[in-house]
Amino acid sequence: MFSDYLKDISWERTTEAIYSKTDADVRRALAAEHCTVDDFMALISPAAAPYLETMARLSRRYTEERFGRTISLFIPLYLTNSCTNSCVYCGFHISNPMKRTILTPEEIENEYRAIKRLGPFENLLLVTGENPALAGVDYIARALDLAKPYFSNLKIEIMPLKAEEYERLTHHGLNGVICFQETYNRARYNVYHPRGMKSRFEWRVDGFDRMGQAGVHSIGLGVLIGLEEWRTDVTMMARHLRYLQKHYWRTKYSVNFPRMRPAENEGFQPNVIMSDRELAQATFAMRIFDHDVDISYSTREPAAIRDHMATLGVTTMSAESKTDPGGYYSHPQALEQFHVSDERTAVEVERALKRLGREPVWKDWDASFDMMAPQHPAQP
Ligand code: SF4
Repeated sequence: MFSDYLKDISWERTTEAIYSKTDADVRRALAAEHCTVDDFMALISPAAAPYLETMARLSRRYTEERFGRTISLFIPLYLTNSCTNSCVYCGFHISNPMKRTILTPEEIENEYRAIKRLGPFENLLLVTGENPALAGVDYIARALDLAKPYFSNLKIEIMPLKAEEYERLTHHGLNGVICFQETYNRARYNVYHPRGMKSRFEWRVDGFDRMGQAGVHSIGLGVLIGLEEWRTDVTMMARHLRYLQKHYWRTKYSVNFPRMRPAENEGFQPNVIMSDRELAQATFAMRIFDHDVDISYSTREPAAIRDHMATLGVTTMSAESKTDPGGYYSHPQALEQFHVSDERTAVEVERALKRLGREPVWKDWDASFDMMAPQHPAQP
């Protein structure tokens, strides 16, 4: 399990190693055919800041070699804002005296129909807070069943599950799971996650192993930028990615590192600010480190940045997102989990991407593709 591996990795020493990288380390990383995590640390370090243009060119080249000019579009649907956790940066935390909503099957279908009117979305991400008693695995299975007639690629971003529960959901059409570790700083993790199941760091970080064991087709890792030193968190995620690729090599991976936006919980303010240039550096470093990983930007980022980065390394984007349950049809006025920054419609996002020479893709995966794909060769 990754938590065992992580015990030997010091957060402090990783931070020191990143900040001690030199110009020579950066040059070596840029010239490497296959980057190591050590190379990644050089690329993400302050020493790499003068090489941003070089990194952008490399990132663009690797992205176009692997993905062409495609940008995959997806839409999230929040099924509930009911949550038993107490993440201090989230408006849905348990102590917030707000109205809680759990969409009924009928409301869920209304949302699906409303989404299809926004654009020909085929990639759907179902999102919930953590309330296993009221919105547990049975509830998610039902939502997946209802989604199948409308969407071909179903992902979830919910509480971590047992391996057998992930496996069960794959029989209901589940293709991918996204989970945010939020931060890999074990010593500080419970400052942000003081209560509820999410306070159990190891249960969460080992959830990715359980996804791999269950044979989930696509796994998405995420850190929330704004909690701890972002360079260290993104490096830990890069380590985690390498670990998972080694152990679950049939799986497809994506990474997310959204910058925190103000939540409606009377104001948790980010501890750490990542500038636009630093966001670009992290994106380029990730692409140079891993040519195959999907790099995903959400609507937390402003339109101009999303457009720019769509030409330089990003391969997946959400569009026209509502972060309140039932926000597309049933409850358009409900409390959002966070404010989106890019408020364009899906059609406007598509048009902008086309103007930039990108090829927006509404459907990039189907269960039948797996039947046609040749088997991966065995790993050494
Ligand atoms: S971030 Fe997720 S788990 Fe935490 S309080 Fe918000 S909805 Fe619940």
